Amino acid sequence: MRIVLVGPPGAGKGTQATVLAETLSIPHISTGDLFRANISQGTELGRRAKAFMDAGDLVPDEITIGMAKDRMEQEDAAGGFLLDGFPRNVSQAEALDVMLKAGAMNLDAVLDLEVEEDEVVKRLAGRRTCRKDSSHIYHVDYRPSKVEGVCDIDGGELYVREDQTEEAVRNRLEVYHTQTEPIIDYYKAQGLVSTIPALGEVKDVTQRALDALKK
Ligand code: AMP
Repeated sequence: MRIVLVGPPGAGKGTQATVLAETLSIPHISTGDLFRANISQGTELGRRAKAFMDAGDLVPDEITIGMAKDRMEQEDAAGGFLLDGFPRNVSQAEALDVMLKAGAMNLDAVLDLEVEEDEVVKRLAGRRTCRKDSSHIYHVDYRPSKVEGVCDIDGGELYVREDQTEEAVRNRLEVYHTQTEPIIDYYKAQGLVSTIPALGEVKDVTQRALDALKK
C-alpha cells in the first residue's frame, strides 16, 4: 500500500505512522526524520535545512523533493510505503504524482488526522523526543517515559525539539494552514482522503485509521 499521512503538527502523525507502518509491514518514510538524521550526521543537506526547521518553516522544495524521491526509490519501498510529513504543499503533491506515474504506481489512501487547535498546542508543549532515535516520542501527560527524561527503549536523553518552542509551534500551525491544508482538497479531488478523528487513545486512533484503509 502507498499511504500519505497528513495532519497539523501535534496530531500524532509520527506516533501513528510508526504503528501503522509496522502493522502494514511497509517502511515509514518521514521527511522530518530524514532531515534530522542529516543534521545529526552533519551533511550539507542537513546544514541547509536546519535554519528553516528551527524556525518552523518549510524546507525549500528543491531540497525536500529530491531527498524524498531518493528515499522512496530505495529497495524496501518498492512494495509500498507510508509517507509522514511529505507532501507538505501542493507543489510537492504534484511532484509526488509525477514520480508515482513514472513508475506506474498510485496512492491508495490519504489519511487526514483531525484535531482541534487548542489540543494541538497542549500536545506539542509536552512533547519529548529521544536524542538517540527520533522515532521514540513521549509526552509528559499522555505518554510519559518510566523515568522522567530518559527513553524507555534505549536510555537516550529526552529533549524538547528546537522546532517545538512556543514561537516555532505557532509558526508551524500557520504554515500548516496556509501551505499544507490545501493538499487535502488536492487529494479530495482524487477521492483519496479519509478523515480520522485523532482524539483519544493512540490505539483507538490507529484502529480508526486501519478501518478507513479497509474501505
Ligand atoms: P516533522 O518532523 O514532520 O514535524 O518535520 C519537522 C520539520 O522538518 C518541519 O517543520 C519542516 O521544517 C521540515 N520538513 C519536514 N518535511 C518537510 C516537507 N515535506 N517539506 C518542507 N519541509 C519539511
